[in-house]
Amino acid sequence: MTPEEFRRYGRQVVDWIADHQERIESYPVLSRARPGDVLAGLPAHPPERGEGFEAVLADLDRVVMPGITHWQHPGFFAYFPSNATGPAILGDLLSAGLGVQGMLWATSPACTELEIRVLDWLAELLDLPARFRSDGTGGGVIQDSASSAALVAILAALHRADGGTAGRDGVTRRHTLYISSQTHSSLEKAAKISGIGSANVRVVDADPLTLAMDPAHLDALLAGDAAAGALPVMVCATVGTTSTTAVDPVPAIGEVCRRHGVWLHVDAAYAGVAAVCPELRWINDGLAEFADSYATNPHKWLLTNFDCTAMWIADRAPLVGALSILPEYLRNQATASGEVVDYRDWQIPLGRRFRALKLWSVIRWYGAEGLREHVRTGVRLAQDLAARIAADPRFELLEHHPFGLVCFRPRWDGLPDAEGDIATMRLMDRLNASGDLYLTHTRVGGRVLLRMAIGAPATVGAHVEAAWDRIREEAAAGP
Ligand code: PLP
Repeated sequence: MTPEEFRRYGRQVVDWIADHQERIESYPVLSRARPGDVLAGLPAHPPERGEGFEAVLADLDRVVMPGITHWQHPGFFAYFPSNATGPAILGDLLSAGLGVQGMLWATSPACTELEIRVLDWLAELLDLPARFRSDGTGGGVIQDSASSAALVAILAALHRADGGTAGRDGVTRRHTLYISSQTHSSLEKAAKISGIGSANVRVVDADPLTLAMDPAHLDALLAGDAAAGALPVMVCATVGTTSTTAVDPVPAIGEVCRRHGVWLHVDAAYAGVAAVCPELRWINDGLAEFADSYATNPHKWLLTNFDCTAMWIADRAPLVGALSILPEYLRNQATASGEVVDYRDWQIPLGRRFRALKLWSVIRWYGAEGLREHVRTGVRLAQDLAARIAADPRFELLEHHPFGLVCFRPRWDGLPDAEGDIATMRLMDRLNASGDLYLTHTRVGGRVLLRMAIGAPATVGAHVEAAWDRIREEAAAGP
């Protein structure tokens, strides 16, 4: 493709995306494709001769679009939001256009140094501790996902706990990881990958009402395991759990970690970015004193398209110690000088995209003010919705809803819990099949609740009200 052809098709692609943004409400939120539909629309074999890009765009409409669930639709309330905005998309396009691979500082100094600066900016915007900033012992890095951040944190924690023995000899003694029943499943996956093993993942009690990790139980487990000869490696506390946005008591957990000399990773994948708002900065409690590593996802609620997890570490030495290997073909003067950061040592893969460009674009386009406004809108809409649910005697509401997620269910008067669960799931399926909105569910205390996560940039009060009216009507039709 010549630059001239690129210019022509590029304009078509940008127009296509802008049209899509304008038309988004005309699509059903949840794709109606059945398994195999998209596959059936695709030729089984690749073309022998190159085709014009028009053919790709035509198939995008014909084959791909019916198989798309519209995460940017204002009626998307499932999982957590995954915001994709104009500045982020353009930043990503620039990254693709430059096509740099930033594994080393030397392979594109700007790729590394812009990332350092943008992560310092974000740390400032979120009012994160000074020791996470690049001018101290720590620093920030963009990972592809919070799952990778958790794995990287475990490997650094393991390195600090055993002085690098596991990295050299393999895991030769029992290592343990501490989570709660509410912790994201990526932590158990990371335990499997790191060699800790899922059998050595210790599940700390969560309070039945708040669903927050119990520090006293954590303390007891750590003491018991250490006495039995295990090496406790890491505790993961969560600020804003996946199921209900529960918040673990980080200061109390941190004190326990410090007493036992265990690494504290704080997973704030969804909720962490809410700290752009001073009134929500309580979510940072305990980070300055106790957190060894911290992760939050601009690719969820902070207007930046997937993938972009911001991770900070208080001390980069164990991280680099755990992950650095320097083969001959990567040796270069800048690395040898010790003056530069080589981000390949801060992540699992060697290669890395220039993701900082999209975060940089987002922060510059919106400014601190615009980012705050976006988070505040999500929180306000969620609080309004929660007030409506609380005022309707036919529904029950989970009281904890400090961010953009509200959990609730119809009371289904007279139905036993198990039948109420079935009725709630059926209600959700009917709502999702309507194409107007998309909700997901969770289980709390064994009972099914609907989750409504508000935070797509296109969602305004009218969308939430329409969704709530729809939910009430559908529930009124009975189980
Ligand atoms: N941690 C929490 C608390 C989450 O809610 C999620 C996803 O929703 C994750 C981790 C995993 O995020 P990612 O998809 O970035 O790996």
